[in-house]
Amino acid sequence: MADVFTIGLGHNSPEIRKNANFDFISFWNEQAKNLSWFSPWTTTLDWNPPFARWFVDGTINASYNTLDIHQAIKSEKTAIFWEGEDGTSRKITYGYLFAEVQKFSNVLKSLGVKKGDRVTIYLPMVPEIVIAMLGCARIGAIHTVVFSGFSATSIQDRINDSKSKIVITADGGYRRGKIIKLKQTIDDAINGLDFVEHVIVLERTKTPIHLTSKDKLWNDVMKNVSSICTAEPLPSDHPLFILYTSGTTGKPKGVLHGTGGYLTHLFSTFKWAFDIKDSDVFFCTADIGWVTGHSYVVYAPLLHGATQIMYEGAPDFPDASRIWNILQKYGVTIFYTTPTALRMFMKFGDDIPNSFELSSLRLLGTVGEPINPEVWKWYFKIIGKKQCPIIDTWWQTETGGMLISPLPGLETIPLKPGSGTLPIPGVDISVVDEFGKDVPANTKGYLVIKNPWPGMLLTLWGDDEKYKTVYWSKYKNSYYPGDYALKDEDGYLWLLGRADDVLKIAGHRIGTAELESCMVSNDDVAESAVCGIPDDVKGEAIIAFVVLKNDVTTTTVDLEKQLITKIRNDVGAIASPKQIYFVSKLPKTRSGKIMRRLLKSIANNEKIGDVSTLEDGTAVTEIQNVFDDIQKTIQKKSI
Ligand code: ATP
Ligand code: MG
Repeated sequence: MADVFTIGLGHNSPEIRKNANFDFISFWNEQAKNLSWFSPWTTTLDWNPPFARWFVDGTINASYNTLDIHQAIKSEKTAIFWEGEDGTSRKITYGYLFAEVQKFSNVLKSLGVKKGDRVTIYLPMVPEIVIAMLGCARIGAIHTVVFSGFSATSIQDRINDSKSKIVITADGGYRRGKIIKLKQTIDDAINGLDFVEHVIVLERTKTPIHLTSKDKLWNDVMKNVSSICTAEPLPSDHPLFILYTSGTTGKPKGVLHGTGGYLTHLFSTFKWAFDIKDSDVFFCTADIGWVTGHSYVVYAPLLHGATQIMYEGAPDFPDASRIWNILQKYGVTIFYTTPTALRMFMKFGDDIPNSFELSSLRLLGTVGEPINPEVWKWYFKIIGKKQCPIIDTWWQTETGGMLISPLPGLETIPLKPGSGTLPIPGVDISVVDEFGKDVPANTKGYLVIKNPWPGMLLTLWGDDEKYKTVYWSKYKNSYYPGDYALKDEDGYLWLLGRADDVLKIAGHRIGTAELESCMVSNDDVAESAVCGIPDDVKGEAIIAFVVLKNDVTTTTVDLEKQLITKIRNDVGAIASPKQIYFVSKLPKTRSGKIMRRLLKSIANNEKIGDVSTLEDGTAVTEIQNVFDDIQKTIQKKSI
């Protein structure tokens, strides 16, 4: 029996859910009216499976909806409190952002950028990344942001795939006190890519750079340019951006998102999930290079005219108290982060967050991976002081915005640690078997989405066939996200990890999240990851990797026994790991996801493959060391 916590924010509007589930098209039709349109749509949804066009014939602009509409009353309001890794800070108002974005749009125009052209953005977490994105959106250019930790090869692949004629970068970026030479990486990346016409370089670190004939400095181009540029009315399905997925399961996919549907989805989910108010100080820790940064740092908060924090650096730099320091300094009211970050904070111990004043918090959220119930409870108790609802939000780059989450801004429902609760209104989600048949309650299966939703991707960039195969071929007329899940007796959804990672032990299917959560519930365990290796008897045997908390005194021999007993009791004897390896770190993507696929390759003695497309440049070496460490541990064990 799962624990249940009911913490509401005073909202209860059951009719919204009822209406939405009765007729999702009319429901989204009403939601879209929250945005400013230049001309209305004639058809709410044109569904030509698997291609959806929302708000057909309507014209809209994302930059207009995030900036122009706020100028009358909010031009002095802070849009972004920017906190540099080095402790410097900047305050960016809606008025300033408006002027800078228009200037930047004019710069792009003067460089020949036209509607539909692609612009690659390779910038650190500085306000200029927002200016660049909205500057593109204003004139209908398609931005493609690439995480600033990626190596030259990874960025080259993405520039080449999107055929961007402009690249925007910086001389360098800070990461853990070190300077990452971004411009140098771009020089290598665009070598041979003749279609790249210009590179705009922001001077962030004042690192010496080599300027070529293609290069222009940000400050120079922004100097004598007009701060007036009218937002272009664009068709609702005009592409707003291409964003490559995290690449946790393989080669990243170029996800293409539209405008009107995407913005409608974000406007509504931000209100329902975060209960956003004018007085809130919102802080999402995601890097803008990932979808969470696009949707819930750039577009959703700005659509609402909210105030938010943008932090440049690593969450534990210069020390483990950095994030709590920021929360206290700005009086953050809503905090949104990842289970991985939370497990790291937990590993550092309770004393650190306990020594900060965090009483301004009223709502907490997570995204990116299943959250272990133990970590959920820690977040609830130590950070939220049992006063804040926690929203565990499930979604993907492809979905554009949240699809499963508690919605305290809409209704008060019991929360169960580890469950994302219910789909958002208007979205029909089932858990099915291999044949697409709904499985009974409390039975594991595959998550499917049964009707289109407004934030849904348009397609994969330049590859409609791949779009059809990856998401729409496993089940007829349902979107297949590739996640493993179960629905409990209350209809609550529990995400159990990726379908690709499911372990098949003696005919039983076990999700990675179930086992990992079981291990993390041990007081000494900070993190864990499991994967399978072939086994003559069981078909597959389980290998577990465990990272311990900082102050552990129990021996690993005792811990191994405790963990095995716990798994036998909670999951079943069948799920007992064949081997448990205690390691200091787990390999992760920079968006914070554990790369089980790579652990599996190691455990199976296979080639790891190209990690540079998965990892940021600086972490590649670190990851390689983790692998070597694990290999050594394995070898030591087998001697
Ligand atoms: P790729 O598709 O290239 O392998 P990726 O799936 O890691 O990369 P994202 O779109 O960033 O790229 O991640 C979406 C995935 O993250 C989901 O499919 C799911 O597996 C996981 N996820 C996100 N949020 C949650 C959550 N709240 N609970 C469980 N899993 C989650
Ligand atoms: Mg994915």
